[in-house]
Amino acid sequence: MPATILDGNKIAAEIRAEAAAEVRAMTAAGARPGLAVVLVGNNEASEIYVRGKVKSCEEVGVYSEKHTPSEKLTTEELLRLIEDLNRREEIDGILVQLPLPRQVDSKRVLLAVDPAKDVDGFHPMNVGFLSTQRPGLVPCTPAGIMEMLQRSEIKVAGQEAVIVGRSDIVGKPMAMLLLNANATVTVCHSKTDDLPGVCRRADVLVAAIGRAGMITRDFVRPGATVIDVGMNRVTDAAEFAKLFAANARREETFRAKGSVLVGDVHPEVAEIAGAITPVPGGVGPLTIAMLMANTVKAAKMRRGNSVAELSRA
Ligand code: NDP
Repeated sequence: MPATILDGNKIAAEIRAEAAAEVRAMTAAGARPGLAVVLVGNNEASEIYVRGKVKSCEEVGVYSEKHTPSEKLTTEELLRLIEDLNRREEIDGILVQLPLPRQVDSKRVLLAVDPAKDVDGFHPMNVGFLSTQRPGLVPCTPAGIMEMLQRSEIKVAGQEAVIVGRSDIVGKPMAMLLLNANATVTVCHSKTDDLPGVCRRADVLVAAIGRAGMITRDFVRPGATVIDVGMNRVTDAAEFAKLFAANARREETFRAKGSVLVGDVHPEVAEIAGAITPVPGGVGPLTIAMLMANTVKAAKMRRGNSVAELSRA
């Protein structure tokens, strides 16, 4: 039986609608949530992501502003901008779009963001809150995946969850969230022995690797839930053919655009998985929806207790 398709667009729309209702109520009370997005230089992919984030703010009613310093700015100059945003009362969330230019010390910059405004959840204080199960801001992509699992009524507690990828942005916070939700969690990476064997243990398999179609059917236990985080642009015709033999719709896109967006999971996995996220239209839309939810959460937390106070709760 083919897998149930977990529709990220539908769930993202629900999350956005809930955020919009909260924004309306907060705005009516004179406390409209605000997000500042910092985009350094002219990275084409980053510009597309930032455009999506600003558009989403407009839809949900969040105040947003975009800062676009030059590619040549120094770490000190960026730190001054962050400090200014930290001080401004009407700004609840600060998002520094990565990657930053090479001369900028990214770690210092992310550390400078006020943890209470860290809507990406990358500050070590928020990482600590997550690992000690205190309230804080959680990275958008793994938080979105948890929303998808919960709203799709996929059992997590007591289940074997295997994550491929151990990045600070996806793999590690995903592991922590699944552990906090009482899954039995295994985290794999490029040095894992017998990766297919470990992955086949999974009831819930999360692929966050960055390798088009790497997770083939040999990695998946029939009936498992498969979450595909990967976003890989395939431009090579031979690679395309290996992934999408006889898929007329994809072939048309490939011919028209010269590329297709492919996940880390091979399309053949949909034949044996119990449930699966598509690419595009799976995890991607949830990431931006969770940014809106995090901005609302940051606004509520700042206007109520500070993050530091919450940490003592
Ligand atoms: P990173 O490159 O930071 O991490 C990749 C991870 O995959 C590493 O831990 C690496 O292992 C592991 N890995 C790489 N090759 C292999 C292999 N052959 N076998 C096993 N493990 C391997 O990537 P990110 O976590 O930032 O992103 C992962 C993917 O998710 C990318 O395609 C990215 O575009 C996408 N993404 C999508 C988002 C969305 O909204 N949909 C948001 C964020 C990311 P090691 O640590 O040993 O090097």
